[in-house]
Formats: sequence, structure tokens, C-alpha cells
Amino acid sequence: MVRTEDDLSDFYDLAILGAGPGGYVAALRAAQLGARVALIEKGRVGGTCLNVGCIPTKALTTSAELLLKARRASEFGVSIPSALPDLPSLMAYKQAAVDRLVGGVEQLLMGRKVALVRGEGRLVRPDTLRVTDAVGEAVEISARHVILAPGSVTARQPIPGLDLPGVMTSTEALDITDVPAHLIVIGGGVIGLEFACIYEALGSRVTVLEMMPTLLPGGTDESLARRLASILRRRGMAIHTGATVQAIEPAGSGLRVIFAGAKGEVAVEGECVLVAVGRWPNTGGLGLAELGVKMNGRAIAVDEHLRTNLPNVWAIGDAVGGMMLAHKAMVDGRVVAENVTGGQRAVDYRSLPSVIFTRPEVASVGLTEAEARAQEADVKVTRFPFSANPRAQILGETEGLVKLVCEAGSGRVLGVHLMGLHVTDLIAEGALAVQVGATADDLAWTTHAHPTLPEAMLEAALGFRGATIHFHSR
Ligand code: NAD
Repeated sequence: MVRTEDDLSDFYDLAILGAGPGGYVAALRAAQLGARVALIEKGRVGGTCLNVGCIPTKALTTSAELLLKARRASEFGVSIPSALPDLPSLMAYKQAAVDRLVGGVEQLLMGRKVALVRGEGRLVRPDTLRVTDAVGEAVEISARHVILAPGSVTARQPIPGLDLPGVMTSTEALDITDVPAHLIVIGGGVIGLEFACIYEALGSRVTVLEMMPTLLPGGTDESLARRLASILRRRGMAIHTGATVQAIEPAGSGLRVIFAGAKGEVAVEGECVLVAVGRWPNTGGLGLAELGVKMNGRAIAVDEHLRTNLPNVWAIGDAVGGMMLAHKAMVDGRVVAENVTGGQRAVDYRSLPSVIFTRPEVASVGLTEAEARAQEADVKVTRFPFSANPRAQILGETEGLVKLVCEAGSGRVLGVHLMGLHVTDLIAEGALAVQVGATADDLAWTTHAHPTLPEAMLEAALGFRGATIHFHSR
């Protein structure tokens, strides 16, 4: 679909609604494949991930880790008399990280001649989006193919008191002007726990209220979720599982959260409440119902090629449901870009990793132990603790482990579950193992450099044949 200079009409090959990680990646890849692309965005390029999600939270996590490490400096023979958060500089660092990446994506789009159309888009015909800008002026963008990539929004539950001052979503929680003495987090999922660890590092006392029996109930291996809860409790965080929040009320200058738990109705008081109870596909107001787009609840229904029920209309990322992760949206973006330019690629989420930037970090890919046992006749689990890894010892970060879930006969790696320092990076090896169908022996005979954290993966793989070298369990 390569176009010549004299063929530049207002009709595009592809119009994409939403410039988040799904939409902008689809735009760049389709342009690379020769398509003439219009990308429609009402806010800043980069969507939730770059502006109010992954990137700013990881900036805060980085500062939190540095602060805690600096306070432990004497353990490493370094004198740092006092380490304190400097909130205005911290906010500036976080914003600079965001701005640099947003600017980078804009440059890439410009470099690939993607037309960035600023305004709010709505599907008015299967091949046309009406885009209304900030002053109310509208243009119509027509294209051979349309990709819907509108992302997700914070879920809102019918909890009385959600509109009280001091009740925050993750977006408000990113702007820290004061550190609350006590932060109450509703939802012990990914967002709730990442912020719990950030505010804890900055000096807040933190209480987490999770309605399910374990933290991270959305697919994390249960043994790791339980271990994380006990590590956080040991550090002083109050974690209530099986806690159903009834209401939020004003209490003096702060807030009171009332929840029903194992011991009946309980109230906790704090200065701020973060509500992180999930996200919903952002599919309202896009004209989808009017045009008969088939839905799956709030999500847009798609087939394995990411096609909707309307001809030449496609949908990707959080808007189609499933795992709401930036890297999943990026994969969708690449898949759909190939399909709108003549390809026939189906999505393959087998090696989609989950990464949680708590302290310690948690990361996983493939089947949990429970899922594997439900699916496979014979499963063998092998583990290795970071306390026996030399690099982790030198770094003074020995909490956590590697857990491999393998098919007992062949040793094929079905799932990799990690907890510890930098496991959000280490999971890449696990994702590759799952993707290519590697066995524990393949991992064990892949030489891992010494002394490094990935050696823990090697040792766990050696454990499949009882050949672990650097650990002896009594
Ligand atoms: P989540 O689904 O991970 O967690 C929400 C939690 O709230 C669940 O554990 C749920 O049981 C609990 N909950 C729901 N209603 C409740 C109630 N009334 N009282 C107490 N607990 C309640 O959702 P999230 O943490 O809001 O994150 C939203 C999405 O963003 C997720 O899909 C997540 O994967 C994604 N995300 C990913 C990352 C990452 O990859 N590092 C970071 C942030 C967000």
C-alpha cells in the first residue's frame, strides 16, 4: 500500500482513534508498511501509560527506591547523613520523564509522516470519524480502515463518599504536594499496591483494603501474592483481605472508611483515600452503539485478528478487555497494523508478562501453578530463593524467589513467577522460554553470567532435575 506524492487526498488508508501505546504503535507500524495514517487524540500523545500511568508511577518508584537505599547507605560503606524526599523536585523529575517520552513519540510520528489530528473522535460511519477540537470545530476523517484504540478509564463503584475531598484516583495520587500521615488504599490490585509502596517509602502509614481473600487476585500466582502480603505486613503496612468497603465519610479534617471484614464492621481513619478498584474499557460516547458495533460487556468484541463486526473497523488495547497492559496494547497495535495492510496475523498472548512494581517487585508469565495443575496431567514446580544468589546478597536485596512451573515429563516451562529486585526485567527470559516452548534443561544449559540476578533462574531450572548447585534445602 505504498502511496505516491500525487496521491495525497484527504482519504487516508487508516484512521486511528486514540494515541496511547496501542494507537501510536499501530500508527508507526502501519506507516512503516506504507500506509497513509491519521491518528486522532483529544489529550496528549501517549495516553494513560505515558501521561498518568506506567511512566509517572515508575518515576515515583525510582525516587522511592533511591530514598530507601540512601538511608541504608552505611550498610554499603557510604556516608549519607540524611536522605529526605524533596516533593517539588520529585514532581519536576516525574514530569520531565513524562514530557521527554511524550516528545519522543511525537517526533517518531512526525518522522513517519503520521497526521496527528487533535480533538475528540467519534465513529459516524464505519469508514469515518468526526473529530471535534477544543473550540468545538469538527472535521471528518475518512479512511479505508479504522482502528479504535480509546483505552480505559478508572472504574467507579457505588461506594458512598467517593466524591469527598481527599478521595483520589491514581491520577490525583501522582501529584504529591504533601505526604499524608495515613493513606487508605481501596483495592489490593496492581495500582493500589504500587501506590501503597510509593507512599510508604515517602513516609505514610498505609492501610490496604482488598475485598478478595488474597492481594493481587487478578491472576498472580497465589503463593507469591500471599508472600507479598506477609512482607508488606512485616514492614508495618496494614493489609485487610476479605474487606468489603461500605462507605467513605468525613472524619474531622480527614476521612473514615467503613468496611466489613472477618471481624464484622470496622472503621479506619486517614488523611487520604486512594480508590483503585480496576479499570473499564473507555467505550462510551464513541458512536459504537449507534453503528451496531458488537460489544462484550463494556469491551469491544474482536476476533483473533482484532477485527470488530463492522467491515474494516478494528479495535485494540484496553478497549477490547482482557489484560489491560500497555505492552499488550503495543502487541495489538503491531498485529492490527499488519492486518490492515494485508496481513493475516492472529494475536498470541501466551508470553504476555505481568509486571508489578511493588517492593519487592512481582512478575509472571504463562500459567500459574493452580492453572497448570488444572490443565496438565503432571506438573513439577521448582524454586530458587534470591537469598542464595550472590548478586542479590551484594545488593542487599535478598527477598523473593524464582518459581518455575514445568510439565513434569518434558520439562517444558509453562509458567514463570518471580518476586524480588528487578524481576520486572528478569521476566523477559521467562517470556522467551514460554514463547519458544523452552524446557527447564534449555534454561539450565544456557550459560548465565556470574554474578548476576538471572542466575537465580538458572538455579531454579537446575532444580528440575535435582541439580541445584548453590542451595541445599534441609
Ligand atoms: P486490579 O484489577 O489490578 O485491582 C483492583 C482490585 O480492587 C482487585 O484486587 C479487586 O478485588 C479490588 N476491589 C474491587 N472492588 C473493591 C472494593 N469495593 N473494595 C475493596 N477492593 C475492591 O485493578 P487496578 O489496580 O485498578 O488496575 C487497573 C488496570 O491497570 C489493571 O488491569 C492493571 O493490570 C493495570 N495496571 C498495570 C500496571 C502494571 O502492569 N505494572 C500498573 C498499574 C495498572
